Amino acid sequence: MAHEQILTAAGLSGETLHGGTLAVTTPIDGREIARVHQHTAAEMDAMIDAARDAFESWRTVPAPRRGELVRLIGEELRASKEQLGALVSLECGKIVQEGMGEVQEMIDICDFAVGVSRQLHGLTIASERPGHVMRETWHPLGVCGVISAFNFPVAVWSWNAALALVCGDPVIWKPSEKTPLTALATQGIVERALARFGDAPPALSQVAIGGAELGAALTASPHVALVSATGSTRMGRAVASAMAERLGRTILELGGNNAMIVTPSADLDLATRAIVFSAVGTAGQRCTSLRRLIVHDDVFDDLLPRLRSVYDGLPIGDPLTEGVLVGPLIDERAFVAMQNALERSRADGGEVFGGDRTLADEHPDAYYVRPAIVEMPEQTELVREETFAPLLYAMRYRELPDAIAMHNDVPQGLSSCIFSTDVRETEAFLSATGSDCGIANVNIGPSGAEIGGAFGGEKDTGGGRESGADAWRGYMRRQTNTVNYSRELPLAQGISFEI
Ligand code: NAD
Repeated sequence: MAHEQILTAAGLSGETLHGGTLAVTTPIDGREIARVHQHTAAEMDAMIDAARDAFESWRTVPAPRRGELVRLIGEELRASKEQLGALVSLECGKIVQEGMGEVQEMIDICDFAVGVSRQLHGLTIASERPGHVMRETWHPLGVCGVISAFNFPVAVWSWNAALALVCGDPVIWKPSEKTPLTALATQGIVERALARFGDAPPALSQVAIGGAELGAALTASPHVALVSATGSTRMGRAVASAMAERLGRTILELGGNNAMIVTPSADLDLATRAIVFSAVGTAGQRCTSLRRLIVHDDVFDDLLPRLRSVYDGLPIGDPLTEGVLVGPLIDERAFVAMQNALERSRADGGEVFGGDRTLADEHPDAYYVRPAIVEMPEQTELVREETFAPLLYAMRYRELPDAIAMHNDVPQGLSSCIFSTDVRETEAFLSATGSDCGIANVNIGPSGAEIGGAFGGEKDTGGGRESGADAWRGYMRRQTNTVNYSRELPLAQGISFEI
C-alpha cells in the first residue's frame, strides 16, 4: 500500500496531516509524510484543566459502565487493526506483522480492563475494637499523564489508558515526537468509541503533541496525579525528579539491557530461533530486545556459527513488504549510536560480525543495517550500556553462578531468560539469587510479553509495572476506613483517654 493510502485508511487527512510545524518522516525512506500541530505549554495547561473537569464526573460513573467505554474502544480497535497496524509500521518502521501485533496488544489490554472494571475490589479487615469494622477501598486517582516512546507508539498508551479509564481517571497522552500520527489515529478510534458510548465527559482522552518540553509541562503540573513515562533512563530520571519535587506518583518503564544465558543442556535449535527473534525483531529497538548472550564454553562454538548463518540470510528492507524481517532504524541518530558502539567494541577486543549499513543507494535518507553480533572477551563498560539497535554481544562463561553474576552486573533490570533443560539451572535462575530482572523466562526469549503478566523492571529500568493482575491499583487511591457501629468509643491499642 502507498504511504498516502495508509495515512488515509487510518483516518488522517487535511488539516490534521498538514496543519502544523512538527515534521513527521517515515524511517522507511526518510521522506516527510506530515507536518502536524504542536501543542504549546499553555495548551497543555488548558488540557489539564479540561481533564480535571472530566474527572469530576467520570469518577462518579460506576466502574462497570466505565468498562463499557473500554469495551467499545476494543471493538473499534478490532475494526481498525489492519489500518492502525500499517500506520505503526509506516511511522516507526517495525515490520507490519509486529505493527499488527502491537494493535492486538491494545485489544488484549482492553479485554483485560473490561474484566477488571468489575473487580476493583478492596478488603474487609478484622478490627481489634468491638462493634467496629475496617475496610480498604479504592477510589479514582485523578488526571493521568502518559508519556510514550517511539518504539511502541500505541501499545504503551493502551496499557495505561485502558486501566486508567476503568479506574475513573481521564488520560492526557504525550506520545513521542517521532510518532505523533499513530497517536492521532488512535485518538480518532477512541472518539468513535466515545460517540457510541454517549454520555462520557469531554476531555476524557486527550493527545498533546510535542517534545520533551511538553512532557516536562505535564510532569510539572500539580493537577496531574500520576505520570506513567516510558522511554530512556535519561528521560526517566528527569521525570522522576520533577515528580518527586511535587510528590506526584509515577510509573516508570525505562531502558533495558536484556540477556540470555545458554547452558550446555540447552536445546540449541530453540535457542537460535529465540535469539534471532528477540535480537533482530523490531530491528533491535524493543525495550526487551536481547542485547547480551552469555553462553557456556561447551556450546559457544556450536551456537555462534548457527547464529551467524541465520543472520547472513535475514531479509532486510521495507517493513511493509511481506517476508521482510528487519526494517529500518528510527533515524540517523540511532544509526550513528550503533556505529559508535561497534567501533568501541572493536577497541575493547570485540570481534564484529555484521552491523554495516545496507540499502543506502535505494534509500539515502533511511537507515537500514545488518544486525550485528559482537563476540566480546568480557562484559566491558560498553556492554553494560543500552544501545538501541540490533547489536548482540556474545560472551562465554564456565560456571552458572558466574553467568548469573555477569547477567546481573548491569545497571538495567528489565527482562531476562535462560535456555536450559536442567531444572537445577532453570530454578536457580528464577530463585532469589538468580536473575534480578522484573521479567525472567525459561526457554523463551526476553521479548514478547503478554498483558496478563505484570510488565516492567528494576534498577535503571525504573521499577514500574504495567498490565498484570493488580496493575489497576497504580491508577487508584487507596483508603482505609474504620466504621464504629457500637454505642462505645474504645480506642485502639487499649489506650484510656477519659474526659
Ligand atoms: P526517549 O527517552 O528519548 O523519549 C521517550 C518520551 O519521553 C518521548 O515522548 C519524549 O518526548 C519524552 N521526554 C524526553 N525527555 C523528557 C523530559 N525531560 N520530560 C518529560 N518527557 C520527556 O526514548 P525513545 O528514544 O523514544 O525510546 C527508546 C527508549 O525507551 C529505550 O531506552 C527503551 O528501552 C525505552 N523503552 C522502555 C520500555 C519499557 O516498557 N521499559 C518500552 C519502550 C521503550
